[in-house]
Amino acid sequence: MDFNAHFKATLDTLKDEGNYRIFAEVERQCGSFPKVKHFNGDDVSEVTVWCSNDYLGMGHHPDVVDAMVQTVQNCGAGAGGTRNISGNNNLHRLLEEELADLHGKEAATLFTSGYVSNWAALSMLGAKIPNAVILSDEGNHASMIEGIRHSRADKVIWKHNDWRDLDRKLKAVGDRPKIVAFESVYSMDGDICPMREIVEVAEAHGALTYLDEVHAVGMYGPRGGGISEERGLAHRIDLIEGTLGKAFGVVGGYITGTAAMCDFVRSFASGFIFTTALPPAVAAAATASIRHLKQSDVERQAQRDRVAKLRARLDARGIPHMASDSHIIPVMIGDPVKCKMLSDILMQDWGVYVQPINYPTVPKGTERLRITPGPLHSDADIDHLVEALASLWKQCAIAHAVA
Ligand code: PMP
Repeated sequence: MDFNAHFKATLDTLKDEGNYRIFAEVERQCGSFPKVKHFNGDDVSEVTVWCSNDYLGMGHHPDVVDAMVQTVQNCGAGAGGTRNISGNNNLHRLLEEELADLHGKEAATLFTSGYVSNWAALSMLGAKIPNAVILSDEGNHASMIEGIRHSRADKVIWKHNDWRDLDRKLKAVGDRPKIVAFESVYSMDGDICPMREIVEVAEAHGALTYLDEVHAVGMYGPRGGGISEERGLAHRIDLIEGTLGKAFGVVGGYITGTAAMCDFVRSFASGFIFTTALPPAVAAAATASIRHLKQSDVERQAQRDRVAKLRARLDARGIPHMASDSHIIPVMIGDPVKCKMLSDILMQDWGVYVQPINYPTVPKGTERLRITPGPLHSDADIDHLVEALASLWKQCAIAHAVA
């Protein structure tokens, strides 16, 4: 087989469909976020980022940056190996204690990313709980889907956010160990799950609940414990999974739950055992970020204000966006080529960076610009973005694509 010919032909198909991914090259500048440097060949310009998952700008917070710099100077750059063999560090333990406290759980286990935490925990739980069935919301993230698939446990998919469908499907499974896997904030539509109903249904069937709070930790709840904290439900959810890479502004993932559950995952999950641990500096920076957001609501409030302002301005200019209760504002385009074209024009002509979201990240026909306002966006930034969208809306006849 001519492997390269195969690679190129497959990529050409993606290009023809408008689904080929081109990454903008940007450099985040400490202290001036969300303004970043954009590199276009030899040209360097300043653009405003509207698609960052560093939702609160914590990646640039002085406490977080200082913790990282100081720890690198004290402890060096890397962890030195897997935690099993050579990489355990008291900063990992401190971070796990901080995370357990954040969610009101007995323990936490760290992973190198949110993706790995979902993949490793679900693949292990599904494999190591005899005769388990995993009931997965149809909107779940790829990392959960892959983990479940890898576990080889039986899987049942329930309709997105439909707790009645979940109830029916749990009943149909009968007397087997059941794991209900779902998310709090869904990242592409920005919708929030009916958590109380899901928890009650799961409890009624004696199922273990597995909740991904990746897009909610740091963002919701008085201490940033996510939607489960905001709604007073954390103590009724068995396993809460999260990331250190979005609102906390660093990188890494984790699960929290009972001490026995975390020890079980730590002891059997290959995605924990066989990979180099997070650098201690990352652990220190994440700990600083979590501690800050536990006692400060300033960033969350400012962020909410920005979201409300942008939504109101989009409404005033007739730019349709999906209604959601979260901080994520999807502006629907409905066509991959137009979506990419809009994103390019926004960058080139308006100094606005919003990455196009195309298939397979979202279903075909629902291509969109996913906008995430942060506390550091100014009123002038919001006005400029809305002006740009309003102008492009007319120019590119987006309304036709959506209809
Ligand atoms: N879960 C969800 C719902 C996500 O959207 C993502 C990443 N976008 C992840 C898990 C993975 O998190 P991380 O980026 O920390 O790997």
